[in-house]
Amino acid sequence: MTISGIGVSPGIAIGKARVIKKQAVVLTGILLLNDEEITIAIEKFDKAVAVSVIEVEMMMNNHDALQGSEGVEILEAHIELLGDPQIREDVVEKIQTERKNVNDAVIEVIQAAVEVFKSMDDDYMSARAADIEDIGNRIVKNLTPAIAIDQDYEAGTIIIAEDLAPSDTISMDIAKIAGFATQIGGKTSHAAIIAKSRGIPAVVGCGADLKSVQDGDMLILDGQSGSIIIDPDQETILKFEAKRDSWLKELSLLKSLKDTPAKTIDGTEIHLFANIADSAEMENALEFGAQGSGLFRTEFLFLGRNDFPSEEEQFEFYKAVALKAKGKPITVRTLDIGGDKQLAYFNFPEEQNPFLGYRAIRLCLDKKDIFITQLKAILRASEFGKLKIMFPMIATVNEIRAAKAILKEAMQTLTDQGTAFDKAIKIGIMIEIPSAAVIADLLAKEVDFFSIGTNDLTQYTLAVDRMNEKIKDLYDPFDPGVLRLIANVIEQRHKNHIEVGMCGELASDPRATFLLIGMGLTEFSMSASSIPVVKNKIIKASLTEARKVYEAVMQMDNSKDITNYLQEKTQ
Ligand code: PEP
Ligand code: MG
Repeated sequence: MTISGIGVSPGIAIGKARVIKKQAVVLTGILLLNDEEITIAIEKFDKAVAVSVIEVEMMMNNHDALQGSEGVEILEAHIELLGDPQIREDVVEKIQTERKNVNDAVIEVIQAAVEVFKSMDDDYMSARAADIEDIGNRIVKNLTPAIAIDQDYEAGTIIIAEDLAPSDTISMDIAKIAGFATQIGGKTSHAAIIAKSRGIPAVVGCGADLKSVQDGDMLILDGQSGSIIIDPDQETILKFEAKRDSWLKELSLLKSLKDTPAKTIDGTEIHLFANIADSAEMENALEFGAQGSGLFRTEFLFLGRNDFPSEEEQFEFYKAVALKAKGKPITVRTLDIGGDKQLAYFNFPEEQNPFLGYRAIRLCLDKKDIFITQLKAILRASEFGKLKIMFPMIATVNEIRAAKAILKEAMQTLTDQGTAFDKAIKIGIMIEIPSAAVIADLLAKEVDFFSIGTNDLTQYTLAVDRMNEKIKDLYDPFDPGVLRLIANVIEQRHKNHIEVGMCGELASDPRATFLLIGMGLTEFSMSASSIPVVKNKIIKASLTEARKVYEAVMQMDNSKDITNYLQEKTQ
């Protein structure tokens, strides 16, 4: 049997399936010893409930993709149950008066409620028992922050899950995990982006078909085509082993381009940077010939933990990246949380549309203390490398002015303390909201550089959720509307003398390379493993020819014609 999904990270994985299911719910019998433990247990419960609410909300945002679910009303009911004051009261009472540990308290309260509902005559009410059990399991799972992925796996394991969080993908041990597949998620979901940068073959958005995979099934996963073959015969295994070997050979051939300059045949120099999340990725990026980092996603330091990192911890983290870059430039993006990147320890408001809501720079301008702590840490780290600061999700001129004012404050504090930092540090913004692309000429007067974030720019321009596999065909960065906005931003390079780069996934798509060079783009930032692939295109391109490609594309009115044409030109 073959299942098809969206191939998001190339490579072939051949190995045994490990299906990640809900963790078993068991009583431990451990009693709490003192008041301090009681307070901690209650806090732990509240946090686990908050995380559970976020999880269910995220599922609701993708509810079309949630195969097998009876619909969004069930999830709404789950959120209601999670906030049920009676459940909390009962759990707290068990912790306080019976000294039960939080795991046992939750299990006992939920089991009691399940029994009550099950015994009811009314069919509707007895069916609610399953919902209560479900939220109980979710809370218990979230009491232990260690994610399932941390478990020990045999080498060659292929992870099968309903969904994976970015922090799951980031913590995968690549020596053991050969690839993964999920039921939901799209090409630019963060779990997918991280898989690509870490070189883990991955397929997402497989839908309910993925449920037919059992633990221990032999699988072939093709991260390019998006297919998963269950229990392949020997002949198919041999065929895919050959394919895997040739992919690895191609990769090592491409890697041999590491020191070849990314120059077109008519001499235009292009700069290739890597998108990174930590110092290990910075080190790995240099292996692929990166000239620095065009996007350092700092939010990954904030994910998968229980509290905000202190200024000191952040400083050490950014400094480690700076040192690994060996003097090459690094564009440090300030905190971009919200949307699909939620923090368990931060109380996000309930939102109908988190991707249009309280996130990134909006949150930072509102929570000045969080923002200033990060800015001070970045500035201090700027003494150890060539750092630039980039603000995400800027939509208006006033936002960038407000961000710069806070940055100035952070600089003043450090100056007053006598702490050294790079006073000439360059300031830039992501262009990932259509309004910013339209007013790029006005924004250019405020900053030193732009970086085009095509992942969000595509999502917002076409009003297509980048996480929703049901509408994945509508999510298309080659749409003429998106391309025109991109062209408008790149034009500012000469019109308004501003540096312009691109760090969204389109920068890594070899079909787009000629087109983007033709538009005048000279700085690309992408997953490290894509650098040699794109470089291989650049060294075969000429600027004159690329301009013609750009002019031809701008005459076309739909992405199908555009991609067909580019595919032909890129052969
Ligand atoms: C983007 O939106 O294109 C981008 C690079 O940022 P992220 O994918 O982290 O949202
Ligand atoms: Mg973005």
